[in-house]
Amino acid sequence: MLDADFFRRWMTATAASVDREAERLTALDSPIGDADHGSNLQRGFRAVAATLEKEAPDTPGAVLTLAGRQLISTVGGASGPLYGTLLRRTGKALGDAGAVSEAEFAQALRAGVDAVMTLGGAAPGDKTMIDALVPAVDALDEGGFTAARTAAEEGALATTPLQARKGRASYLGERSIGHQDPGATSSALLVAALAEADGE
Ligand code: ADP
Ligand code: MG
Repeated sequence: MLDADFFRRWMTATAASVDREAERLTALDSPIGDADHGSNLQRGFRAVAATLEKEAPDTPGAVLTLAGRQLISTVGGASGPLYGTLLRRTGKALGDAGAVSEAEFAQALRAGVDAVMTLGGAAPGDKTMIDALVPAVDALDEGGFTAARTAAEEGALATTPLQARKGRASYLGERSIGHQDPGATSSALLVAALAEADGE
């Protein structure tokens, strides 16, 4: 079972990995964006880690809804509301249980990813974070956290040949082809942090 501690570890592992990769995320956002993705997420997840430490929510749902709210209020770019919605909606789907099974979490995360698609209007293949998140939730159902990590990483790499149809990168039209999407790359970090939180 996954308890509130597991979800706190997920968020702190994400914050640490975003810290380590911030420059790379910003570099990916420079040819097809405005070179702020790393700094946006670094600011957001640092604030998430600090809030979770201070408020110490004691259910999985409360950890994720608080984290999502914090991202929405600290990240100005498109990715703040999108990641914030992902975590808030996932947290809401977990309800107020003290611990949840991996299957319950997989189902909740799917609801979260669906909410991101509704909010941002992106579908798979549009060269966004959705291209890492959808394969990850599919794999999570089947093979657990390590399978989800591999699927998210492959999904992020597979954005390179795509033409962006959502977000800033879409303004470039065909010139967005040939660059890996920064948001899909950070989504792969978020998913990889699950395996880390699980001690894999
Ligand atoms: P901004 O584009 O406002 O500068 P960021 O640089 O922080 O925001 O995030 C850019 C990333 O957000 C993109 O690489 C993409 O993955 C994701 N993104 C942008 N728009 C959408 C959308 N409508 N739906 C899903 N993801 C999106
Ligand atoms: Mg940007």
